[in-house]
Amino acid sequence: MDTTLTPCTWKHGKRWAYTVTYDEAMAELFDYTVPVHEELGIPGHVEVVVGHMGKVRQIGQSSYNGYHHMDAGQLRQLIALGWGVGSHSWSHGVVAENLDLEVRQAKQVLEDAIGCRVVTYVAPGDNSNMIPPVIEALQAAGYLSALSVTDDINPPDCNLWFLNRSANLHRGWGPLFSAFDPYHRLEQARAQSAWVVDYCHCPTPHIPHESKDVYIHEHRARLEAIVRLGGNEVWPATVEEIVDYVLCRRHVRIEPVTGDTGEPSFRLSLPDLPAPVTYRHLTVDIQIPPPLRRCPQIIVSGRAQPALLVERSVARLTLDLAQPVMLAVTAAGQ
Ligand SMILES: [Zn+2]
Repeated sequence: MDTTLTPCTWKHGKRWAYTVTYDEAMAELFDYTVPVHEELGIPGHVEVVVGHMGKVRQIGQSSYNGYHHMDAGQLRQLIALGWGVGSHSWSHGVVAENLDLEVRQAKQVLEDAIGCRVVTYVAPGDNSNMIPPVIEALQAAGYLSALSVTDDINPPDCNLWFLNRSANLHRGWGPLFSAFDPYHRLEQARAQSAWVVDYCHCPTPHIPHESKDVYIHEHRARLEAIVRLGGNEVWPATVEEIVDYVLCRRHVRIEPVTGDTGEPSFRLSLPDLPAPVTYRHLTVDIQIPPPLRRCPQIIVSGRAQPALLVERSVARLTLDLAQPVMLAVTAAGQ
């Protein structure tokens, strides 16, 4: 049996992945929602209307008018808690009408405000802000993904420029009305090793728009369902962590090479990886042949470490591929 090396679908070898997005990045999230995240140990992700940062909401006929958009300090506070931040455009209007402002400047201003990269775009309004000219402008400006307003899961080979989001809502609106389900799409995601990105706004005890949001007791039930059903199989992470991982998995090049003493060896690198990718980690499963299963060890760029066997014949390892890596499999003390 040969030694083989396979990238895992999700980081840490998890079976499926989960993110929850909060469009508009309301300061009111701190009242009820952030404490639930802290209690359960799950990061969140807020989507900022960049031209309205720190202002009282007053956008058209929005049901959230009167709420407060977070300011830079509040966004940095969330980042310190492990959360992610994306752009929800500059004005929450028609993005294609001013691509430079809504896409490029929005990214730059938000990056300056929060002190870290902005590579996630979340379409304001509906999917009319996901049309090709918008996607092309996002790609040119250095974003890495775009999130739509379509209720579905994201399979491992998902389109990063049209990611789906799962309806985490008190009720869906006609013609097919629907009611809240804390398990919505979770078994489907588990079965298909997919990524669930929840859509909601600002869960509290009183929500102004029941088809755009959930009550806080429902949202707690949702996050508890992630923890209970997901157990050790789910990877809860920000959009940026997951998109970076998907790009590393898609770009990795694995070349078998012959080691100095004939042991199974590989060279791993990330050619043509988009520059904005920051987290360059990849989890791999290594099939260990029987002769090496007695005290197996993995040598990464010259440094030996005992192998973590997650199954009888499978060692699992997360590698930092910021630079190309040489990996060899041996048995210690032969
Ligand atoms: Zn919005």
